[in-house]
Amino acid sequence: MTQQNGRLGGPVCRPRRPTRQIRVGDVTIGGDAPVRVQSMTTTITGNVEATLAQIRELATAGAELVRVTVNDEAAADALPRLIAESNVPLVADVHYDHKLALASLEAGIAKLRINPGNIGKKEHVREVAAAAADKGVPIRIGVNKGSLHRRYEQLAELDPAGALVQSALDEIETLAGVGFTDVAVSLKSSDPREVVEACRRFAARSDVPQHLGVTEAGTLLAGTSRSVAAMSVLLSEGIGDTVRISLADDPVHEVTAAFHMLQALGLREGFARVVACPTCGRVEVDVVALATRVEELAKDLPPDRVISVMGCIVNGPGEAKAADLGIAAGRTKVAIYRKGVLHRNIPKDELEAVLLEEIERLR
Ligand code: SF4
Repeated sequence: MTQQNGRLGGPVCRPRRPTRQIRVGDVTIGGDAPVRVQSMTTTITGNVEATLAQIRELATAGAELVRVTVNDEAAADALPRLIAESNVPLVADVHYDHKLALASLEAGIAKLRINPGNIGKKEHVREVAAAAADKGVPIRIGVNKGSLHRRYEQLAELDPAGALVQSALDEIETLAGVGFTDVAVSLKSSDPREVVEACRRFAARSDVPQHLGVTEAGTLLAGTSRSVAAMSVLLSEGIGDTVRISLADDPVHEVTAAFHMLQALGLREGFARVVACPTCGRVEVDVVALATRVEELAKDLPPDRVISVMGCIVNGPGEAKAADLGIAAGRTKVAIYRKGVLHRNIPKDELEAVLLEEIERLR
């Protein structure tokens, strides 16, 4: 794979659409920056210890930006400590109350996510934009089908994607009208096809960087599948500057899934690749448990490493050829391959110790 502008390019994806670049703390978004991975905390923001613990977990998993809801005064009061102790830039998610947006800026937040339409009066939007400009803080305009202003209702019935695009363009204009252009947008719907359509149409009309997401995507499997379906179409067309896979689950999964998606498309380096057979009636070992354990042990390996886990010896030698480390279970023994060559046969009860040793060799 070739490295282009800090990201891996491959035949799957068209070159990235040129977008203007914004800076969120020390993280750049858009332009020649790699596609960034975001997530959002699920804790009560005012619970500083729980929120900090989750921010750290997300950052350790690879999240480059973490959003927290700032929905009340307790959340705003928690921000100074969260910001001081977070190791990634934080984004404040604010609805309705412009004072909470102002308090977030005062606390030193790195980015605001607002929907100017629900901030209300123009002077409130102007006040927030002026304070953000003063601090050099960008704003993401988060357009969401579920909270579109009623002026787009009719259009949304005829052309749902068009309503998202129009709302985003109008919001950008509102901020531009008060002299603020340091923006990103997101156009979200729970229907992946609407997200694809809206993001494509927006990309044809604006160079504002786009944050991609399917909102209320669902639980772990359904949500990941629906998000990846929409985002991989867009990313392969060069559209998308940041991503969030929204899941009704532990947000750490959002980050892991996002990196797997970006790595599969050749857009980011992610994890060492663990290939595991789907198992069948021939299986001689608990492949799910074994592959999960191998993933755990391999998560800090260089991303170009490949490990194959096969439930029996039928496909073991073949898969092992393309892997740095191959594991194929037999009835009483397990065959260990190194770069396609049978290295040793070990008794099953020695597998854990041998895995530790073999994976360590791949560092
Ligand atoms: S490797 Fe063996 S156990 Fe796994 S799917 Fe193939 S035949 Fe079945």
